[in-house]
Amino acid sequence: MKIKSLPIHDWLKNNSIINVSGTMTGLGASMVSQEITQCVSESMSRFVDMDALQAEASRNIADVTGSEAGCITASVASGICISVAATMTGTNLGLAEDLPETGKVSKNEVLILKGHVVNYGSIITQQIRLVGAIPVEVGSVTVVEPYQLRHAITENTCAALWVVSHHTVQSGLLGLQTFIEVCHEKGVPVIVDAASEYDLKIFINLGADVVLYSGHKFLSGPTSGIVAGKTVLIKAAYMQQSSGIGRAMKAGKESVVGAIAALQRWQNLDHRKLHEEEYQRLTYIRKGLEKITGLCVEEFADPTGNPITRLNVSIDPNVSVLHIGKLCEALSQGIPPIIVRNHCLDLGYFEIDPCNMKSGDPEKVVRRFQELHNIILDCPTESSEANRLGPRRSSYDANNIPQVNSDNVPWAFRKFGDREEELKEWPERHLNQQKKENHE
Ligand SMILES: *Cc1c(COP(=O)(O)O)cnc(C)c1O
Repeated sequence: MKIKSLPIHDWLKNNSIINVSGTMTGLGASMVSQEITQCVSESMSRFVDMDALQAEASRNIADVTGSEAGCITASVASGICISVAATMTGTNLGLAEDLPETGKVSKNEVLILKGHVVNYGSIITQQIRLVGAIPVEVGSVTVVEPYQLRHAITENTCAALWVVSHHTVQSGLLGLQTFIEVCHEKGVPVIVDAASEYDLKIFINLGADVVLYSGHKFLSGPTSGIVAGKTVLIKAAYMQQSSGIGRAMKAGKESVVGAIAALQRWQNLDHRKLHEEEYQRLTYIRKGLEKITGLCVEEFADPTGNPITRLNVSIDPNVSVLHIGKLCEALSQGIPPIIVRNHCLDLGYFEIDPCNMKSGDPEKVVRRFQELHNIILDCPTESSEANRLGPRRSSYDANNIPQVNSDNVPWAFRKFGDREEELKEWPERHLNQQKKENHE
Protein backbone atom coordinates (compact mmCIF):
# COMPACT_ATOMS: atom_id res chain seq x y z
CA MET A 1 0.00 0.00 0.00
CA LYS A 2 1.37 3.37 -0.99
CA ILE A 3 1.31 5.75 1.97
CA LYS A 4 0.32 9.31 1.23
CA SER A 5 3.02 11.63 2.43
CA LEU A 6 2.13 14.37 4.90
CA PRO A 7 3.02 18.07 4.66
CA ILE A 8 5.68 17.71 7.36
CA HIS A 9 7.60 15.58 4.88
CA ASP A 10 8.01 18.59 2.60
CA TRP A 11 8.80 20.82 5.56
CA LEU A 12 11.70 18.55 6.43
CA LYS A 13 13.07 18.68 2.91
CA ASN A 14 12.76 22.45 2.75
CA ASN A 15 14.19 23.18 6.16
CA SER A 16 17.14 20.87 6.51
CA ILE A 17 20.53 22.14 7.42
CA ILE A 18 24.10 21.29 6.45
CA ASN A 19 25.60 20.37 9.77
CA VAL A 20 29.36 20.82 10.10
CA SER A 21 29.15 21.42 13.83
CA GLY A 22 29.22 17.83 15.10
CA THR A 23 26.53 16.06 17.10
CA MET A 24 24.50 19.02 18.34
CA THR A 25 21.19 18.19 19.98
CA GLY A 26 19.91 21.62 18.92
CA LEU A 27 20.21 20.46 15.30
CA GLY A 28 18.71 17.03 15.81
CA ALA A 29 21.91 15.40 17.16
CA SER A 30 22.93 12.89 14.50
CA MET A 31 21.95 11.06 11.36
CA VAL A 32 20.25 7.85 12.43
CA SER A 33 21.53 5.04 10.26
CA GLN A 34 19.30 2.83 8.13
CA GLU A 35 19.77 -0.34 10.20
CA ILE A 36 18.67 1.48 13.33
CA THR A 37 15.75 3.22 11.64
CA GLN A 38 14.52 -0.15 10.47
CA CYS A 39 14.47 -1.57 14.00
CA VAL A 40 12.74 1.52 15.38
CA SER A 41 10.19 1.38 12.60
CA GLU A 42 9.53 -2.30 13.36
CA SER A 43 8.90 -1.47 17.01
CA MET A 44 6.34 1.21 16.30
CA SER A 45 3.46 -1.10 15.43
CA ARG A 46 4.14 -3.70 18.13
CA PHE A 47 3.46 -4.06 21.83
CA VAL A 48 6.24 -5.12 24.11
CA ASP A 49 6.72 -5.59 27.84
CA MET A 50 8.80 -2.52 28.63
CA ASP A 51 10.47 -4.10 31.70
CA ALA A 52 11.54 -7.03 29.49
CA LEU A 53 12.78 -4.67 26.78
CA GLN A 54 14.78 -2.68 29.34
CA ALA A 55 16.24 -5.95 30.66
CA GLU A 56 17.38 -6.71 27.10
CA ALA A 57 18.88 -3.21 27.03
CA SER A 58 20.69 -3.99 30.29
CA ARG A 59 22.22 -7.11 28.76
CA ASN A 60 23.38 -5.20 25.68
CA ILE A 61 24.75 -2.27 27.69
CA ALA A 62 26.69 -4.67 29.90
CA ASP A 63 28.10 -6.38 26.79
CA VAL A 64 29.28 -3.17 25.15
CA THR A 65 30.48 -1.19 28.17
CA GLY A 66 31.67 -3.94 30.50
CA SER A 67 29.27 -2.71 33.21
CA GLU A 68 27.21 -4.98 35.46
CA ALA A 69 23.89 -3.60 34.21
CA GLY A 70 22.25 -0.70 32.42
CA CYS A 71 19.05 0.93 31.29
CA ILE A 72 17.87 3.37 28.67
CA THR A 73 16.49 6.76 29.56
CA ALA A 74 15.32 9.79 27.57
CA SER A 75 18.68 11.57 27.38
CA VAL A 76 21.93 12.04 29.26
CA ALA A 77 20.35 14.96 31.11
CA SER A 78 17.68 12.61 32.43
CA GLY A 79 20.38 10.00 33.11
CA ILE A 80 22.00 12.51 35.48
CA CYS A 81 18.65 13.05 37.24
CA ILE A 82 17.81 9.38 37.73
CA SER A 83 21.31 8.28 38.71
CA VAL A 84 21.64 11.10 41.25
CA ALA A 85 18.19 10.16 42.59
CA ALA A 86 19.35 6.53 42.76
CA THR A 87 22.26 7.47 45.01
CA MET A 88 19.86 9.21 47.41
CA THR A 89 17.09 6.60 47.67
CA GLY A 90 18.63 3.28 46.68
CA THR A 91 15.81 0.85 45.83
CA ASN A 92 13.47 2.22 48.53
CA LEU A 93 10.39 3.12 46.48
CA GLY A 94 8.86 5.11 49.33
CA LEU A 95 11.87 7.41 49.41
CA ALA A 96 11.85 7.60 45.62
CA GLU A 97 8.18 8.67 45.63
CA ASP A 98 9.01 11.49 48.06
CA LEU A 99 11.44 13.19 45.65
CA PRO A 100 12.13 16.04 45.17
CA GLU A 101 11.34 16.17 48.90
CA THR A 102 14.46 14.83 50.59
CA GLY A 103 13.46 15.12 54.26
CA LYS A 104 13.77 11.38 54.80
CA VAL A 105 16.90 10.63 52.73
CA SER A 106 20.14 10.51 54.68
CA LYS A 107 22.43 12.13 52.07
CA ASN A 108 21.61 14.58 49.31
CA GLU A 109 24.78 16.49 48.31
CA VAL A 110 26.44 15.92 44.93
CA LEU A 111 30.04 17.02 44.41
CA ILE A 112 31.09 18.49 41.08
CA LEU A 113 34.33 20.24 40.18
CA LYS A 114 33.82 23.97 39.61
CA GLY A 115 35.44 23.66 36.19
CA HIS A 116 32.90 20.95 35.29
CA VAL A 117 29.79 23.09 35.72
CA VAL A 118 29.04 23.14 32.01
CA ASN A 119 26.11 24.21 29.91
CA TYR A 120 25.18 21.68 27.20
CA GLY A 121 21.97 23.54 26.41
CA SER A 122 21.05 23.81 30.06
CA ILE A 123 23.24 24.07 33.14
CA ILE A 124 24.29 20.69 34.48
CA THR A 125 23.68 21.53 38.15
CA GLN A 126 19.99 22.01 37.37
CA GLN A 127 19.74 18.27 36.65
CA ILE A 128 21.08 17.64 40.16
CA ARG A 129 18.69 20.12 41.80
CA LEU A 130 15.73 18.83 39.81
CA VAL A 131 15.54 15.66 41.91
CA GLY A 132 16.04 17.46 45.23
CA ALA A 133 19.81 17.00 45.54
CA ILE A 134 22.17 19.88 46.24
CA PRO A 135 25.19 20.50 43.99
CA VAL A 136 28.38 21.29 45.89
CA GLU A 137 31.15 22.80 43.76
CA VAL A 138 34.70 21.73 44.54
CA GLY A 139 37.88 23.81 44.18
CA SER A 140 38.37 26.76 41.86
CA VAL A 141 37.55 26.93 38.17
CA THR A 142 41.08 26.18 37.02
CA VAL A 143 42.70 24.36 39.94
CA VAL A 144 41.42 21.39 41.95
CA GLU A 145 43.74 19.22 44.02
CA PRO A 146 42.95 15.93 45.76
CA TYR A 147 42.90 17.49 49.25
CA GLN A 148 40.12 19.84 48.15
CA LEU A 149 37.99 16.93 47.02
CA ARG A 150 38.71 15.02 50.24
CA HIS A 151 37.75 18.12 52.21
CA ALA A 152 34.48 18.52 50.31
CA ILE A 153 33.22 15.00 51.09
CA THR A 154 30.97 14.92 54.15
CA GLU A 155 28.41 12.56 55.66
CA ASN A 156 25.83 14.32 53.44
CA THR A 157 27.59 13.43 50.19
CA CYS A 158 25.48 10.99 48.16
CA ALA A 159 27.46 11.10 44.90
CA ALA A 160 30.19 12.82 42.92
CA LEU A 161 29.63 13.78 39.29
CA TRP A 162 32.50 13.92 36.78
CA VAL A 163 32.02 15.49 33.35
CA VAL A 164 34.02 14.55 30.27
CA SER A 165 33.59 17.27 27.69
CA HIS A 166 35.40 19.90 25.66
CA HIS A 167 33.15 22.35 27.54
CA THR A 168 34.96 21.69 30.83
CA VAL A 169 38.17 23.38 31.91
CA GLN A 170 40.83 21.21 30.30
CA SER A 171 43.82 21.71 32.55
CA GLY A 172 44.73 22.15 36.19
CA LEU A 173 42.15 19.72 37.57
CA LEU A 174 42.92 16.44 39.29
CA GLY A 175 42.46 13.37 37.04
CA LEU A 176 39.47 11.04 36.94
CA GLN A 177 41.46 8.13 38.38
CA THR A 178 42.39 10.17 41.46
CA PHE A 179 38.85 11.51 41.68
CA ILE A 180 37.48 7.97 41.80
CA GLU A 181 40.10 6.81 44.32
CA VAL A 182 39.39 9.68 46.72
CA CYS A 183 35.60 9.24 46.41
CA HIS A 184 35.78 5.48 46.88
CA GLU A 185 38.00 5.83 49.97
CA LYS A 186 35.02 7.57 51.53
CA GLY A 187 32.37 5.30 50.01
CA VAL A 188 31.02 7.93 47.60
CA PRO A 189 29.76 6.59 44.24
CA VAL A 190 31.05 8.32 41.09
CA ILE A 191 28.77 9.15 38.18
CA VAL A 192 30.54 10.01 34.90
CA ASP A 193 28.80 12.12 32.25
CA ALA A 194 30.45 10.79 29.09
CA ALA A 195 27.62 11.90 26.81
CA SER A 196 29.81 12.65 23.86
CA GLU A 197 32.59 10.06 24.19
CA TYR A 198 33.41 7.21 21.77
CA ASP A 199 35.18 4.90 24.21
CA LEU A 200 32.37 2.93 25.78
CA LYS A 201 34.59 0.91 28.13
CA ILE A 202 37.21 3.18 29.65
CA PHE A 203 35.15 4.82 32.39
CA ILE A 204 33.78 1.55 33.77
CA ASN A 205 37.35 0.21 33.58
CA LEU A 206 38.57 3.14 35.65
CA GLY A 207 36.05 2.20 38.34
CA ALA A 208 33.16 4.62 37.76
CA ASP A 209 29.95 3.43 39.42
CA VAL A 210 27.62 4.86 36.76
CA VAL A 211 28.52 6.08 33.27
CA LEU A 212 26.15 8.02 31.02
CA TYR A 213 26.36 8.01 27.23
CA SER A 214 24.14 9.72 24.74
CA GLY A 215 22.30 7.40 22.35
CA HIS A 216 21.88 10.23 19.86
CA LYS A 217 25.42 11.48 19.51
CA PHE A 218 28.20 9.26 18.09
CA LEU A 219 26.10 6.15 18.51
CA SER A 220 23.79 7.60 15.83
CA GLY A 221 20.63 6.35 17.51
CA PRO A 222 17.34 8.12 18.20
CA THR A 223 17.06 10.48 21.18
CA SER A 224 18.04 8.43 24.22
CA GLY A 225 20.46 8.16 27.11
CA ILE A 226 22.42 5.07 28.11
CA VAL A 227 22.94 4.47 31.81
CA ALA A 228 25.60 1.84 32.55
CA GLY A 229 26.89 0.80 35.95
CA LYS A 230 26.71 -1.23 39.14
CA THR A 231 23.58 -3.35 39.41
CA VAL A 232 22.33 -1.81 42.69
CA LEU A 233 22.49 1.71 41.29
CA ILE A 234 20.99 0.76 37.93
CA LYS A 235 18.05 -0.96 39.66
CA ALA A 236 17.50 2.20 41.70
CA ALA A 237 17.85 4.45 38.62
CA TYR A 238 15.38 2.39 36.61
CA MET A 239 12.95 2.53 39.53
CA GLN A 240 13.01 6.35 39.43
CA GLN A 241 12.10 6.24 35.79
CA SER A 242 9.38 3.62 35.82
CA SER A 243 7.72 4.67 39.08
CA GLY A 244 9.34 7.81 40.50
CA ILE A 245 10.52 11.26 39.61
CA GLY A 246 12.05 10.02 36.35
CA ARG A 247 8.59 9.26 35.00
CA ALA A 248 8.67 12.64 33.28
CA MET A 249 11.81 11.49 31.45
CA LYS A 250 10.90 7.98 30.49
CA ALA A 251 12.03 6.49 27.23
CA GLY A 252 9.41 4.90 24.96
CA LYS A 253 9.86 1.64 23.07
CA GLU A 254 11.19 3.48 20.00
CA SER A 255 14.01 5.02 22.03
CA VAL A 256 14.87 1.83 23.87
CA VAL A 257 14.84 -0.30 20.72
CA GLY A 258 16.76 2.40 18.85
CA ALA A 259 19.41 2.66 21.56
CA ILE A 260 19.88 -1.13 21.67
CA ALA A 261 20.17 -1.21 17.88
CA ALA A 262 22.70 1.64 18.06
CA LEU A 263 24.85 -0.30 20.54
CA GLN A 264 24.71 -3.44 18.39
CA ARG A 265 25.63 -1.45 15.28
CA TRP A 266 28.50 0.21 17.14
CA GLN A 267 30.03 -3.15 17.95
CA ASN A 268 29.93 -4.28 14.34
CA LEU A 269 30.91 -0.99 12.75
CA ASP A 270 34.10 -0.57 10.72
CA HIS A 271 35.07 2.53 12.69
CA ARG A 272 38.38 3.02 10.94
CA LYS A 273 36.73 3.07 7.52
CA LEU A 274 34.10 5.54 8.68
CA HIS A 275 36.76 7.82 10.12
CA GLU A 276 38.75 7.65 6.91
CA GLU A 277 35.68 8.85 5.01
CA GLU A 278 35.19 11.64 7.52
CA TYR A 279 38.81 12.68 7.17
CA GLN A 280 38.56 12.70 3.37
CA ARG A 281 35.60 15.08 3.59
CA LEU A 282 37.46 17.29 6.01
CA THR A 283 40.56 17.28 3.79
CA TYR A 284 38.47 18.31 0.79
CA ILE A 285 37.14 21.28 2.76
CA ARG A 286 40.59 22.19 4.13
CA LYS A 287 42.09 22.27 0.64
CA GLY A 288 39.17 24.36 -0.63
CA LEU A 289 39.39 26.89 2.19
CA GLU A 290 43.18 27.16 2.04
CA LYS A 291 42.79 28.64 -1.45
CA ILE A 292 40.61 31.46 -0.12
CA THR A 293 42.66 34.57 0.67
CA GLY A 294 42.06 35.81 4.19
CA LEU A 295 41.14 32.47 5.76
CA CYS A 296 43.47 30.58 8.10
CA VAL A 297 42.69 26.89 8.37
CA GLU A 298 44.29 24.41 10.72
CA GLU A 299 43.61 20.79 11.66
CA PHE A 300 43.42 19.83 15.28
CA ALA A 301 42.55 16.85 17.47
CA ASP A 302 39.43 16.46 19.60
CA PRO A 303 40.39 17.59 23.12
CA THR A 304 38.80 14.69 25.03
CA GLY A 305 40.35 11.93 22.94
CA ASN A 306 37.60 11.11 20.48
CA PRO A 307 38.85 9.96 17.07
CA ILE A 308 37.89 13.19 15.32
CA THR A 309 40.00 15.70 13.43
CA ARG A 310 38.39 19.10 13.09
CA LEU A 311 39.28 22.28 11.24
CA ASN A 312 39.86 25.48 13.08
CA VAL A 313 38.92 28.42 10.81
CA SER A 314 39.91 32.01 11.53
CA ILE A 315 40.37 35.21 9.55
CA ASP A 316 43.90 36.34 8.74
CA PRO A 317 44.37 39.65 10.59
CA ASN A 318 46.82 40.78 7.91
CA VAL A 319 44.06 40.61 5.32
CA SER A 320 40.75 41.48 6.96
CA VAL A 321 39.33 42.89 10.17
CA LEU A 322 36.01 41.10 9.68
CA HIS A 323 35.00 39.37 12.89
CA ILE A 324 34.72 35.60 12.49
CA GLY A 325 31.23 35.78 14.01
CA LYS A 326 30.00 37.66 10.93
CA LEU A 327 31.23 34.90 8.66
CA CYS A 328 29.56 32.30 10.87
CA GLU A 329 26.31 34.27 10.72
CA ALA A 330 26.49 34.61 6.94
CA LEU A 331 27.02 30.86 6.55
CA SER A 332 23.92 30.21 8.64
CA GLN A 333 21.77 32.56 6.60
CA GLY A 334 22.18 30.92 3.22
CA ILE A 335 19.98 28.24 1.70
CA PRO A 336 20.50 25.64 2.98
CA PRO A 337 21.93 27.07 6.20
CA ILE A 338 25.44 25.84 6.99
CA ILE A 339 25.95 25.53 10.73
CA VAL A 340 29.55 25.49 11.98
CA ARG A 341 30.77 24.70 15.49
CA ASN A 342 30.61 28.11 17.02
CA HIS A 343 31.40 28.00 20.73
CA CYS A 344 34.83 29.61 20.34
CA LEU A 345 33.80 32.69 18.36
CA ASP A 346 34.96 34.80 21.28
CA LEU A 347 38.44 33.32 20.81
CA GLY A 348 38.40 34.35 17.16
CA TYR A 349 37.69 31.06 15.41
CA PHE A 350 35.04 28.50 14.59
CA GLU A 351 35.38 24.82 13.89
CA ILE A 352 34.29 22.44 11.18
CA ASP A 353 33.41 18.93 12.29
CA PRO A 354 33.14 16.06 9.80
CA CYS A 355 30.94 13.67 11.84
CA ASN A 356 27.56 14.48 10.38
CA MET A 357 28.38 15.39 6.80
CA LYS A 358 26.50 13.74 3.99
CA SER A 359 28.07 13.07 0.63
CA GLY A 360 27.87 16.25 -1.42
CA ASP A 361 28.09 18.45 1.67
CA PRO A 362 31.85 19.23 1.43
CA GLU A 363 31.40 20.61 -2.09
CA LYS A 364 28.47 22.78 -0.97
CA VAL A 365 30.45 24.04 2.02
CA VAL A 366 33.48 25.07 -0.05
CA ARG A 367 31.26 26.73 -2.65
CA ARG A 368 29.48 28.77 0.03
CA PHE A 369 32.79 29.96 1.48
CA GLN A 370 33.88 31.01 -2.00
CA GLU A 371 30.62 32.93 -2.45
CA LEU A 372 31.20 34.70 0.86
CA HIS A 373 34.76 35.67 0.03
CA ASN A 374 33.70 39.28 -0.65
CA ILE A 375 32.55 39.88 2.93
CA ILE A 376 36.07 39.05 4.08
CA LEU A 377 37.70 41.29 1.48
CA ASP A 378 35.20 44.10 2.17
CA CYS A 379 36.90 44.71 5.53
CA PRO A 380 40.56 45.17 4.54
CA THR A 381 43.17 45.57 7.24
CA GLU A 382 44.41 49.13 7.01
CA SER A 383 47.92 48.83 8.29
CA SER A 384 50.26 46.65 6.37
CA GLU A 385 52.18 46.37 9.62
CA ALA A 386 49.29 44.73 11.46
CA ASN A 387 51.26 41.67 12.42
CA ARG A 388 54.83 42.84 12.12
CA LEU A 389 55.41 41.78 15.74
CA GLY A 390 53.50 38.53 15.44
CA PRO A 391 49.79 37.91 15.89
CA ARG A 392 48.24 40.22 18.49
CA ARG A 393 44.85 41.57 19.34
CA SER A 394 46.19 45.00 20.08
CA SER A 395 47.79 47.98 18.38
CA TYR A 396 49.53 51.22 19.45
CA ASP A 397 48.14 54.71 19.67
CA ALA A 398 49.89 57.82 18.31
CA ASN A 399 52.20 57.86 21.34
CA ASN A 400 53.05 54.18 20.95
CA ILE A 401 50.98 53.26 23.99
CA PRO A 402 49.43 49.78 23.60
CA GLN A 403 45.68 49.55 23.21
CA VAL A 404 43.56 46.44 22.80
CA ASN A 405 41.16 45.91 19.96
CA SER A 406 38.02 45.41 22.02
CA ASP A 407 36.17 43.72 19.15
CA ASN A 408 38.65 40.92 19.33
CA VAL A 409 39.37 40.08 22.95
CA PRO A 410 37.31 37.41 24.66
CA TRP A 411 36.68 39.43 27.83
CA ALA A 412 35.11 42.25 25.85
CA PHE A 413 33.54 40.42 22.95
CA ARG A 414 29.83 39.79 23.27
CA LYS A 415 28.49 36.63 21.69
CA PHE A 416 26.10 37.08 18.84
CA GLY A 417 22.53 36.85 20.09
CA ASP A 418 20.96 36.39 23.48
CA ARG A 419 19.14 33.15 24.19
CA GLU A 420 16.45 34.79 26.29
CA GLU A 421 15.64 37.25 23.52
CA GLU A 422 15.63 34.45 20.95
CA LEU A 423 13.19 32.41 22.99
CA LYS A 424 10.89 35.38 23.47
CA GLU A 425 10.63 35.62 19.69
CA TRP A 426 9.79 31.94 19.32
CA PRO A 427 7.83 30.75 17.39
CA GLU A 428 6.92 33.95 15.53
CA ARG A 429 10.38 34.61 14.16
CA HIS A 430 10.57 31.17 12.59
CA LEU A 431 7.03 31.15 11.25
CA ASN A 432 7.44 34.58 9.68
CA GLN A 433 10.68 33.72 7.96
CA GLN A 434 10.38 33.82 4.23
CA LYS A 435 9.30 30.51 2.84
CA LYS A 436 12.38 28.75 1.63
CA GLU A 437 12.76 27.16 -1.73
CA ASN A 438 13.05 23.44 -1.92
CA HIS A 439 16.79 22.88 -1.98
CA GLU A 440 17.00 19.11 -2.15
C1 LIG B 1 25.33 16.48 24.96
C2 LIG B 1 25.75 16.43 26.36
C3 LIG B 1 24.82 16.26 27.39
C4 LIG B 1 23.36 16.22 27.12
O1 LIG B 1 23.01 15.06 26.48
P1 LIG B 1 21.49 14.77 26.12
O2 LIG B 1 21.49 13.32 25.86
O3 LIG B 1 21.17 15.58 24.94
O4 LIG B 1 20.68 15.15 27.32
C5 LIG B 1 25.27 16.14 28.68
N1 LIG B 1 26.57 16.20 28.97
C6 LIG B 1 27.51 16.36 28.01
C7 LIG B 1 28.95 16.38 28.40
C8 LIG B 1 27.13 16.48 26.68
O5 LIG B 1 28.07 16.64 25.72
